[in-house]
Amino acid sequence: MKARNPRTGQEDYEFAASSRDEIAAQAARLRDAQPAWEALGPDGRATILMRFADAMEAATQQIATTLTIDTGRGAVSWIEVQGAIGNIRRWASRGPDLFASLDRGPKASATPGVEIVTDYSAFPLFGAIAPWNFPVILSHIDAVPALMAGCAALVKPSEITPRFVEPMRDVLAQVPELPLAYVMGGADVGQALIEEVDYVCFTGSTATGRKVAEAAARKLIPANLELGGKDPMIITASADPEWAAGVALRSSIVATGQACQSIERIYVDSDIAEPFIDALVAGAEKVDITHPDPNAGHIGPFIFPPQAAKVQEQIDDAVAKGAEVRSGGTVEDLDGGQYLRPTILTGVTPDMLVMREETFGPVLPVTIYDEIENAIAQANDTEYGLSAAILAGSLEEAASLASRLDAGAISLQDGALTSMVGDAANQSRGTSGLGPSRMGDTGMTRFLREQAHIRQTGQPLPIDAYREGQAG
Ligand code: NAD
Repeated sequence: MKARNPRTGQEDYEFAASSRDEIAAQAARLRDAQPAWEALGPDGRATILMRFADAMEAATQQIATTLTIDTGRGAVSWIEVQGAIGNIRRWASRGPDLFASLDRGPKASATPGVEIVTDYSAFPLFGAIAPWNFPVILSHIDAVPALMAGCAALVKPSEITPRFVEPMRDVLAQVPELPLAYVMGGADVGQALIEEVDYVCFTGSTATGRKVAEAAARKLIPANLELGGKDPMIITASADPEWAAGVALRSSIVATGQACQSIERIYVDSDIAEPFIDALVAGAEKVDITHPDPNAGHIGPFIFPPQAAKVQEQIDDAVAKGAEVRSGGTVEDLDGGQYLRPTILTGVTPDMLVMREETFGPVLPVTIYDEIENAIAQANDTEYGLSAAILAGSLEEAASLASRLDAGAISLQDGALTSMVGDAANQSRGTSGLGPSRMGDTGMTRFLREQAHIRQTGQPLPIDAYREGQAG
């Protein structure tokens, strides 16, 4: 298979897709290794995960360099690798305490004479299927807590961004005790992985998530889905308009908006709409694309060309239906890379594609509201429910509105905080996901199976207790 360089448009990297037999062999090898891994106990596994983090840290340069080529972004790649290492260290330090806090009993049952002990064991083989937007973080975000729980882990990164796997395989060679392996390829490899594993975590689009859920249902294994979003941000009349514009801009355009938790709809109170939009446009004009110098500017090319075409289609649809482009608006093809400057749209209406479908680009459609009730209703008028944000004059005011938003995580006085905070448990709503939270303690405990040890401390019932003719 070939991978494309998003800065040049050239397919300049070749890699071998895993065959069905190779995937089965990897899965069998991991299954063989898993009992010894689980038997190490939480402290033993945490020690090895810390070594994994150290080896990854020592290879940061190599990993970030390949990631920079695949994603067309330098600073974000370094931050991403640091984030992935932080995720390993966080689970390695939290894991042992979390195991110690599990309720094992014995405790009295409501059934007289019986007490209950709970034993925990990991699903033997965990599988992850990851997207291209944050290839390193999202390939490991669920695999690491699964490993901490005692599972072996088989990971399929996106075929659009495969380059980081080479340096990661070198890292894994330094930690041979860690039962983690990668398989490479597209949809067929994803389906083959589901056939092999006992638990699957999928991060990607809602459309593919449905196919993964169907395959997992046929196999009767749990599937956790982390899918798309159309995150709203509400800005109330008491918010400082310039401050709010800065927060909205960053939350929407970081990583060229190719983040699930990007702010994709803005609702601003009419009292501050004018200074807010002026500040937003002024801020957008100060943002540079990273072309021609990849080491200057803020936002890079689109990673995946069909995404750029989809974003342009949404902008064109909005304009055709009466929206006004206040900045940006046109995808530029520069030396084979496709770039879009921050695009601010006003005069948008709920029927426009840009208000209904996930955009995954640096586009900010702004809606002006008069009543907060109306803003909340419009923010909730979506099939998605990933996350949302509220900016107000005070944290108290923002907090008073939070529960009314129909989404899994609400950022208050900031935007897109789920990209920076790994320990806030949240469950996506609507078509944004399914299953227990990957953040917070359930991120690990979901991979443990409870086995009940039901102890009879009195006398077992004799068969005569069931003899006919003695009722009443
Ligand atoms: P995608 O759904 O196209 O692909 C994701 C992965 O699924 C890839 O590895 C792909 O090879 C694999 N795949 C494709 N078809 C498959 C099939 N039939 N069976 C099994 N696997 C299959 O997603 P993408 O375009 O790579 O990523 C962008 C999407 O990911 C956006 O919708 C974004 O919102 C979402 N996302 C969600 C989160 C979250 O935490 N909720 C985080 C990041 C990205």
